[in-house]
Amino acid sequence: MSTRQTHHLRVPLLRVLIATYRTQGQRSTDFAFVPEGELVTLAYVCDRDRGNPDGGCGCTRGFADVSSHKVTTTAVVVEQVMTRDDYLRRLRASALDTGLLKPGEDHTDVDDQADELLDLAAGLPIGTVVERRGDLLQVRQWPPRPRACPGFPVKRGQR
Ligand SMILES: [Zn+2]
Repeated sequence: MSTRQTHHLRVPLLRVLIATYRTQGQRSTDFAFVPEGELVTLAYVCDRDRGNPDGGCGCTRGFADVSSHKVTTTAVVVEQVMTRDDYLRRLRASALDTGLLKPGEDHTDVDDQADELLDLAAGLPIGTVVERRGDLLQVRQWPPRPRACPGFPVKRGQR
């Protein structure tokens, strides 16, 4: 009889968007001021660039780092150990930090946008690079196909 114990750890995994350098430069208007791996949300869109994804400001194609608020044009879907509540908290904190949200103010809009991002990420394979064109988020690059296991090469007649 086995005495080995199995531990069933339930780890909350959430598909989220983080900054990536992958595919940077594919568009002439690309930029990446966010270190790879930082959690990002949609950058706030200013009046000047509204409706123009290739505008001079860049906000309409930008994903903003929730901590530094720096911006990048490329994000990738990953799975992180995080609950939806953790995620909402981080995005609310970010909105408070940038002044988009005032202390005590209703954060429904921030939560709705966060849920939209979560829905998008949940529907994409891990490793998918996404870009933003104004209100539209689209796939820029699908993840590489998993390679088939080559197996162990056994040469015939050599044993
Ligand atoms: Zn702008």
